[in-house]
Amino acid sequence: MLKYSLFICSIVVFFVSCKPTHSDNVIEFNQAMQTFSNYEKVTCKHLDWKAKINFELKEIKGTATWTFENKSNEKFIHFDTYDMSIIKAKVNGKETQYFVTDFNKEFGSGLSIPISEKDSMVSVEYTTGADATALQWLAPSQTAGGKLPYLFTQCESIHARSLLPCQDVPANRITYNAEIETPRGMMAVMSAKNPTEKNPEGKYTFEMEIPIPTYLIALAVGDIDYKAIDDRSGVYTEPSMLEKSANELSDIPSMMKVAEKLGGPYKWRKYDVLIAPPSFPIGGMENPRLTFATPTIIAGDKSLVSLIAHEMAHSWSGNLVTNATWNDLWLNEGYTTYFERRIMEEIAGKDYNEMMWELGYQDMQSDLNDMGLNGEDTKLKIDLKNRHPEDAFSNIAYEKGAIFLRMLEENMGRKAFDIYLNKYFQTNAFVPMTTEKALTFMRQHLFNGDSSIETKLQLHQWIYEPGLPNNCPKINPIRFIEVDKQRSAFEQSGKVENLKTSNWSTHEWLQFLRKLPHPFAISRMELLDAQFQLTNTSNSEIADEWFKLSISSNYEKAFAKMEQFLSKVGRKKFLQPLYFELMSQEKYKPLAKELFEKYKNNYHPQTAEKIRGIVSPKK
Ligand SMILES: [Zn+2]
Repeated sequence: MLKYSLFICSIVVFFVSCKPTHSDNVIEFNQAMQTFSNYEKVTCKHLDWKAKINFELKEIKGTATWTFENKSNEKFIHFDTYDMSIIKAKVNGKETQYFVTDFNKEFGSGLSIPISEKDSMVSVEYTTGADATALQWLAPSQTAGGKLPYLFTQCESIHARSLLPCQDVPANRITYNAEIETPRGMMAVMSAKNPTEKNPEGKYTFEMEIPIPTYLIALAVGDIDYKAIDDRSGVYTEPSMLEKSANELSDIPSMMKVAEKLGGPYKWRKYDVLIAPPSFPIGGMENPRLTFATPTIIAGDKSLVSLIAHEMAHSWSGNLVTNATWNDLWLNEGYTTYFERRIMEEIAGKDYNEMMWELGYQDMQSDLNDMGLNGEDTKLKIDLKNRHPEDAFSNIAYEKGAIFLRMLEENMGRKAFDIYLNKYFQTNAFVPMTTEKALTFMRQHLFNGDSSIETKLQLHQWIYEPGLPNNCPKINPIRFIEVDKQRSAFEQSGKVENLKTSNWSTHEWLQFLRKLPHPFAISRMELLDAQFQLTNTSNSEIADEWFKLSISSNYEKAFAKMEQFLSKVGRKKFLQPLYFELMSQEKYKPLAKELFEKYKNNYHPQTAEKIRGIVSPKK
């Protein structure tokens, strides 16, 4: 395809934005790592970042000063950038020339700066571009308070390069300091030591002294306040959301206790959560010290806080032991999903937790069906050569990864597995982890060198082959047996008054709605809606499932509320299936396109791009 033509020979001879004087400067695009940087030879260690946030221009003007180590006497340091204007570059304080390669929509541009053997510091002054994929600028109307604008970043997987010039690979770790200037009346927070009060001048300083990969650099600016939950945890969010968010998240301290039992001591000092505005594109992002989370988890009954357990678990799997490449994403997400379920088992009980395992299993099955049982991306270890990492982000890394670990736990025994898991995090803390290295560790510390166990448990099939091996654990949640019974009785009789739902959590509702026939008779949809006000539910998980069923059943009475949902909620997980469902029926295709045109500016650029692919598929 055209978009990859630049990289066919693995070498990109860059072109020049200043006058070139070095004819030997070649930026090699590292396809496997999706980077222009030469991080293995010249390695960035620390970032000093100064940035001024300009909401009128929707632009950050910044200076990124990098301290680096030139291990092999290289003549250039190469960075990743994405859609930014470079103003000037300095080496050890002295202005110098720089070179920028052609822009590629997937990977951005390489930035190259000449250095000598004794240099150790380079700084780049720049402004971010209108297409910076890490940034979402919200108008006041898109926030809960409606008065001030808002900015947040989302750098995973390779979007940090649009926030600042960096060596944008998960395999390298850096520390950082930042000085951020915001308009008055706003607070800035980062994945670092954070303020708890607004500064009247809008001046904030930050320090992250524990090394992190660049995808964990994070910033949010807005009308943000803080409320402590205990001395280690608290909530940052808009003032009108503060009380209810703090109530919803009051289990954080007990979750943390369970997590530490499993993973070892929490190494990041504070654990706070930022509840972002509704257009936040994903469920949560595990930015160290400050998880960013969607407000759609504030359901009023704590039924969706497993998302926080997930992000908290990333403090070990992902943030401490980090996938070395995006091919190894399952090490971040599979371990975290398993870890999350173990936290939830303690917090909410086994029966409750089994429902989450089952819903996750259903999500994985749906992806396996979509990708085909032989689909390359259904392997745990994937191959992203020449692709954007997010091309292959799916439930496979999360759910197949997690159930693989559950299979190991069931076979090796929980006690032995927990010892192994704890050792995995403690021994490999701050180390980039490849699948191969993780397997070696598993062979030594879980199988104790007994290769027959590996064969019996089909280790190779699980990791390197597509589909699902036949020793996948069976999940059969007791609480769903009752839901299924009630559902089939209702399907046969249509007696909505016989449905006993008062004890149902979100998960029971999801099971009920997912297992109803798609399409379902409109007369029955009406009965359900009249009885349970599903069209008007404020629970976004249930709403999403109900709207999906409504589209497939042509139950158009729900469409006005669905439109409101699509206009307000930015979470990709909810938007994608609804647009898919609309596009799957000829008669709703124009509606899908119309809704996207109307609301695309409310979506995060990464999400808008995905939805565009759904409503206007390439022929
Ligand atoms: Zn995750």
